[in-house]
Amino acid sequence: MAVFVLDKHKQPLMPCSEKRARLLLERGRAVVHKRYPFTIRLKDRMGGDTQPLRLGIDPGSKTTGLALMRETNDGQRHVLCLFDLVHRGYSIRKAMEQRAAFRRRRRSKNLRYRAPRFDNRTKPKGWLAPSLQHQVDTVMAWVNRFSRLTPITAISQELVRFDTQKLENPEISGVEYQQGTLLGYEVREYLLEKWGRECAYCGTKDTPLEIEHVVPRTRQGSNRVSNLTLSCHDCNQAKDALPLADFFATDRGLRKRLKANGHTAETQLERVERQLKQPLRDASAVNAIRWSLFSALKTTGLPMAVGTGGRTKYNRQRLTIPKTHALDAACVGAFDTLHDWAVPTLTIKATGRGSYKRTRLTKHGFPRGFLMRQKQVQGFQTGDMVKAIVPTGKKAGTHTGRVAVRKTGSFNIQTEHGAVQGISHKYCAVTQRSDGYGYHLTSTNRQKGGAGQTVA
Ligand SMILES: [Zn+2]
Repeated sequence: MAVFVLDKHKQPLMPCSEKRARLLLERGRAVVHKRYPFTIRLKDRMGGDTQPLRLGIDPGSKTTGLALMRETNDGQRHVLCLFDLVHRGYSIRKAMEQRAAFRRRRRSKNLRYRAPRFDNRTKPKGWLAPSLQHQVDTVMAWVNRFSRLTPITAISQELVRFDTQKLENPEISGVEYQQGTLLGYEVREYLLEKWGRECAYCGTKDTPLEIEHVVPRTRQGSNRVSNLTLSCHDCNQAKDALPLADFFATDRGLRKRLKANGHTAETQLERVERQLKQPLRDASAVNAIRWSLFSALKTTGLPMAVGTGGRTKYNRQRLTIPKTHALDAACVGAFDTLHDWAVPTLTIKATGRGSYKRTRLTKHGFPRGFLMRQKQVQGFQTGDMVKAIVPTGKKAGTHTGRVAVRKTGSFNIQTEHGAVQGISHKYCAVTQRSDGYGYHLTSTNRQKGGAGQTVA
C-alpha cells in the first residue's frame, strides 16, 4: 500500500512506496504526519513533480469503495491505495426513530393545552433522509481529506446500473445480448432491474440468475432483449426448449417452487407475458444518493468521469479481479488494464463522535445505568486509536485498535481480531486522536472470479 507524502509546507506530493517511506523516516528526512491513512511529511522538500492520480468511487448503501490509482495515457491504471468506507446509516436511523418516539410521548402526554399542529411541512428539493445524507457527507469528507494528502487530478464514480444511451429503447432498437461483451453486461444489469432481481418463472430470490431465452434458440428465438429474461438454474434447466405456456402447464418442479414463493402458475405466466412486452419504464434505474453524491463531487472542481455498474462488472470479470467494494471502485469507468491491485484495503468505519445522552434506557424506557459526564479519562477518549503493550498477565502482548474508555481507567480495545477488555490506561499510548472513524487494515484475498453465465 502506498504512503501519502507531504512536503515541508504540508502540500501533497506523489505517494511513495512503504519501503521508501521507511528509509526516509530512518534517515530522519521525514516525520510521521498521520497514522490513518499513513502519511509522512518531508522535512527538507518543497514542491515536486506529480503524475495524474484518479480516485475511483463505488458508492454503496452500507460500504463505499474508494481506490486511488496512478493513471497513464494509454489506459493503464496502477492501484496505489484501496479503502472501504463503512457507513453508519442504520445507527443514525435508529437514533432518529428513538428521538421521534420520545417526542411522540411528550405530545400525547396529558399536559397543558397545546394547539394542534398539522403535517404541513415541505421538504426542499433534493432532500435526503439523515441516514442517507450521511452517506454523501462521509464520502465527500474523505474525498476532501484525500485531496489534502495527495494530488488527485480526476474522479471516477459509478453512477447508474446500466447505460441508457447504449440501451435506448432496448426492446425495440434490437440490442442483442452477447455473453462477455461490455454491451452484454449492460444488458444483464438492465434485465436484473427489469425483472426485479428474482427468477422470472418461479420468483425465487437470492439465487444465482441465468440469462434465459423465452423463445428458445432452437425454435429460432432471438438474442434481442425483448426475448430475454432471468431465471434460476432449476427453471432454466427444466424449461430447456419448451414454449412458455407448456412449461408453466406441465413442469411439476416449477409448480412446487411457485407454491413455496406464494404464486400460482396462471398469474405468474400472465405476469411474465405482460412484463415481456413492457420495456423498463425508468430506464436509467436512478438512485437518488448516487446523483446527490455526483453533484456534490462536481463542486470539487475536479474532472469527473462516470461509469455504469455493467461496465464495472465487465472490467472486473475481464481482468479476473475478485469482488470487493474497493476493487469495484478501481474498476469503474473505461480503461485498459489494472496493475498492482493485490494491495491491502484500509477499512474506514464511520463510528460517530459519541452521544449527548447520559442515561441508557431499557427497552421499556426505564433508566438503566448512568454514563460518566466527562469525555476524557487519563488523557484518553473513546475513539482514540491506541497501541497497548501489556507486559504480563492473561492479556500480555500488543493490542492496537480503537479504545473505549471507562472511568476506572481500565479500557476496552477494539482490535482487528475482536475486543480486548480490561486494559489499564498505563499500558496505552495514543497513535491517533479520535476523529469519528475507526480503522483497520485487511489484506486482499487473491481468489479469481469466474466469468460464467451466472449473475450475482
Ligand atoms: Zn426459477
